[in-house]
Amino acid sequence: MPITSKPSGQKPGTNNFFALLAIILAISALAVIWNGGQGNAKKVSLNQFIEDVQNAKVAKISVDTESDRINITRVDGSETYTFKEPSQSLDDVLAKVPENLKNNIETEVQPISNNGLWLTLIINILPILLIVGFFMFMMRSAQSSNNQAMSFGKSKAKLFDGTKKKTFFTDVAGAEEAKEELVEIVDFLKSPGKYVQMGAKIPKGVLLVGSPGTGKTLLARAVAGEANVPFFSISGSEFVEMFVGVGASRVRDLFRKAQKNAPCIIFIDEIDAVGRQRGTGLGGGHDEREQTLNQILTEMDGFEGDTGIIVMAATNRPDVLDPALLRPGRFDRRVMVDLPDIKDREAILSVHGRNKPLEKDINMTVIAQHTPGFSGADLENVMNEAAIMAAKENRKSIAQDDLLEAVEKVMMGPERKSRGLSEQEKIRTAYHEVGHAIVGHKTKNCDPVHKISIVSRGMALGVTWFLPEDDKHLYTRSKFFDEICSLFGGYCAEIEFFGEMSTGASNDLEKATKIATNMVTKYGMTQVGAVTLGDTSGHEIFLGRDLGHTKNYSEDTARKVDEEVKKLLDEGKAFASKTIKENRDLMKRIAEDLIKKENLSRAEFLAYFGETEEQDDARLGIHTPKKKSKKKAAK
Ligand code: ADP
Ligand code: MG
Ligand code: ZN
Repeated sequence: MPITSKPSGQKPGTNNFFALLAIILAISALAVIWNGGQGNAKKVSLNQFIEDVQNAKVAKISVDTESDRINITRVDGSETYTFKEPSQSLDDVLAKVPENLKNNIETEVQPISNNGLWLTLIINILPILLIVGFFMFMMRSAQSSNNQAMSFGKSKAKLFDGTKKKTFFTDVAGAEEAKEELVEIVDFLKSPGKYVQMGAKIPKGVLLVGSPGTGKTLLARAVAGEANVPFFSISGSEFVEMFVGVGASRVRDLFRKAQKNAPCIIFIDEIDAVGRQRGTGLGGGHDEREQTLNQILTEMDGFEGDTGIIVMAATNRPDVLDPALLRPGRFDRRVMVDLPDIKDREAILSVHGRNKPLEKDINMTVIAQHTPGFSGADLENVMNEAAIMAAKENRKSIAQDDLLEAVEKVMMGPERKSRGLSEQEKIRTAYHEVGHAIVGHKTKNCDPVHKISIVSRGMALGVTWFLPEDDKHLYTRSKFFDEICSLFGGYCAEIEFFGEMSTGASNDLEKATKIATNMVTKYGMTQVGAVTLGDTSGHEIFLGRDLGHTKNYSEDTARKVDEEVKKLLDEGKAFASKTIKENRDLMKRIAEDLIKKENLSRAEFLAYFGETEEQDDARLGIHTPKKKSKKKAAK
């Protein structure tokens, strides 16, 4: 339910004006037709007219000097008309007619015909009317946008009063630590008296921090649902408008509203839109943002803890937030919302599978294994895509294969079977991908090859999918290096089999370079030493602040960094090249099969080496018997 009404639409005055204009135009048009019609008058030639006058058949002549039309009423009552030349006067026309005949005729000269009068009126007045109208219109719209500006100051916060669809903690799967922290907040909202008696200060602000899609908004709503209080939700960007000062007045308005509805929750989503550090803009700060932020700070200081308002905010960039927001008394509680681990992923999938018809043999554990790094929103998307696939094929329930395919779709984009790859491109892609897979397989630390595919997806022509068996928290130097090697697999395969590289490897090279650079400058994994070089604050360049002083090392060190990065890349490339040369025949076989089949599974790939999945796991030192048995059950 939006709290403020929208600014009222156009004022009736504008419409009236246009109605009037339309009526004037209509009348003029009518008049023109009416006058132009002149009854059933018959046209005669000028000579005929002169003859008629000479024969005394004409009773009345009226001349329209505007159009040089001569309207003639004959003695017998019939009407005719004719035209004279503009230069001639009536006397010139009737020069040959004897005076006495002319005297009998009633002559009338209309300097401007009715017709002409109307036309002249329209021609003269219409532009004025149009101009006046235009100005009126301009003024009106200026005014109405003024009005809008006035109601701008009202916050656009949406109120979820919870009568419709409440969210509870049970709707949030996993995120146990976050929920634990928030249970406290729910209790504050439910019975603030308890805490006030103890002399405890109720926290005013809770900042939810986590990557996009991890369920921050969901958690905030769940708190409101559990505490059964109104929930005002506004996005940080909604404070920022064209006019300076609007944001601040919106903040004021929002807090007024909240005070009337206390106890309640104010939720500022994406607070980094307004809460960025002040005075960091390139070429001067953004005044509007600063004012808004100042207002938030003022408001948060302004209300006492026992009013029962709790401000929750969410961000995925806590590093850019102004320190003033984070000090005690403001957003002093920070709740981290992490990407879900395997257990949580399974739980999230189950939550979103609750109201969907699932086949009996669905194994969510397997899906959770296949989705490392997925956020809650991604997992919801997986469930949804699977449901769409099943519905498309008119099936009654969602099958495991739907889910697996949905995972691939969400991860790599939908298959684009229609993408017109030429035969030559297809062959090259196959060798490229098999190159990645073989080099990866021949290293000691790369994740197992999960699938190789040369079906285009999204931007990629093909893909080799390495899938970790567990969620990774630590990476070793050798794992990074092996990853560089396998990234060069595609590049080296193209050189080995086609004699030259193609643009297809550019993304791989970029990734490899990034890994190598991080190894040197961030993780201290090379000769350069155990230092962090460059930006030590742990975040990317933020607006203007960091541009000036990111480099904390000398030119000499910079040269060494470049050398080390190059060395790492060269070594990785050498390993890849050697591996491919050694396995040339095998590689050719696999690539040719891949061209035919388009997809190779892990088992199919390992079969070329005479290995089973278990052996491969053992090689990689993965010992997870529990998971294995479930995996078998799924097949
Ligand atoms: P954000 O952290 O970006 O605010 P949202 O709260 O908007 O993320 O989450 C987006 C969607 O992802 C939610 O609507 C919900 O359906 C799903 N989701 C995210 N995390 C979870 C979770 N832990 N349990 C259940 N669903 C979740
Ligand atoms: Mg959100
Ligand atoms: Zn590649």
